Amino acid sequence: MTSSKYRVEQLETTRSTTLHVNPTFPDLKEKVAILTALPLLQTNVTIPQMLTSNPVNKYSNFKCIARIKDFEAYRTWYTVKCSKCGRKLDEEEDGYACIDHENIDPKFSYCVNASIIDDTTTTKVVFFNEAMTDMLKISCKKMVIEGANKDTFVIPHELATHIGKLKLFDLTMKKDRGIIVNKATDIAAEQHLNTHGPTQKPLTITPITPDPKNVSLKRSRPDTLGASNENSEPKHQKTTN
Ligand SMILES: [Zn+2]
Repeated sequence: MTSSKYRVEQLETTRSTTLHVNPTFPDLKEKVAILTALPLLQTNVTIPQMLTSNPVNKYSNFKCIARIKDFEAYRTWYTVKCSKCGRKLDEEEDGYACIDHENIDPKFSYCVNASIIDDTTTTKVVFFNEAMTDMLKISCKKMVIEGANKDTFVIPHELATHIGKLKLFDLTMKKDRGIIVNKATDIAAEQHLNTHGPTQKPLTITPITPDPKNVSLKRSRPDTLGASNENSEPKHQKTTN
């Protein structure tokens, strides 16, 4: 353990790697808590590896490099709910109304069913509001109202433009095997090639040589994306080998 104030150390990326943190550093403490709470983060796995993994926890987290293959237009892509009771609302002639409440502020949320594909396999995923807003940089309400995309069965153009683009998917698989997208980040094709080249680096969830004054735990640095590497797995991950 280190006792020097606000100091973070990273050893070589081996099984013995430990993040030493002064527990009173508030910002870092919070981030470390988030990282250590992550169950079974598996980085840079393929979709088949993810689908055949053994569900140990209620939730398993994965990072996969894949593309959006399609959005499922036969299912609605957004919902509107009452701001007071959460009841799902349908649009009436004069807007959205709840049978129990007046003066509501209808809450618009993305809920988009999609399929993603990597080199070999396709799987179904769901984008909820936060992940889709982050990917599109447009709130659901804006997309529906200002974008004139009221039809819940017509996928807006803004979503369709993401089909086929290479992305790093941060995914959670539930025990029922349902897969939720936490974040989908664009990857340049050349970066993807680099991850398969001879100079590949492991994906790391800890900062490399962090500046103690500016510590930030970036989990998906584009320059550190790499193929799955046993030695780069976070220490809290349980493995079967
Ligand atoms: Zn209501």
